[in-house]
Amino acid sequence: MAPRKKKRPNSTDDEALQLIHQCPLCETAYEPLEIKVIDEQDSKHLVFVTCRKCGHSVVALIMHQPNGVSSMGLITDTQPEDLVRLKNADTVNWDDCIAWHNFLKEDQLSRETFLN
Ligand SMILES: [Zn+2]
Repeated sequence: MAPRKKKRPNSTDDEALQLIHQCPLCETAYEPLEIKVIDEQDSKHLVFVTCRKCGHSVVALIMHQPNGVSSMGLITDTQPEDLVRLKNADTVNWDDCIAWHNFLKEDQLSRETFLN
């Protein structure tokens, strides 16, 4: 989903939630009570909503900025609980990726297990 920006100073939380007003896939309007706030930090809110019609979920980051409110959302197959868990997990770095690649390259059983 492309970032959207609403240029209006003094935006309220209600205005921020209007940026994620409908499902990007089936265009069904979200009910405000369906939108769950997963995390809040300073002027940023991480929200999660599942479409009651098609069942797809969106996670969005809503940011209050001096020149207005902006949001960036992604269609996801995670659950809200996963977002909390992943937020506190270690990040994957290049060394992790190379180690995983080498592991799969050298271990036939793992390669068949994970890649088939
Ligand atoms: Zn939908």
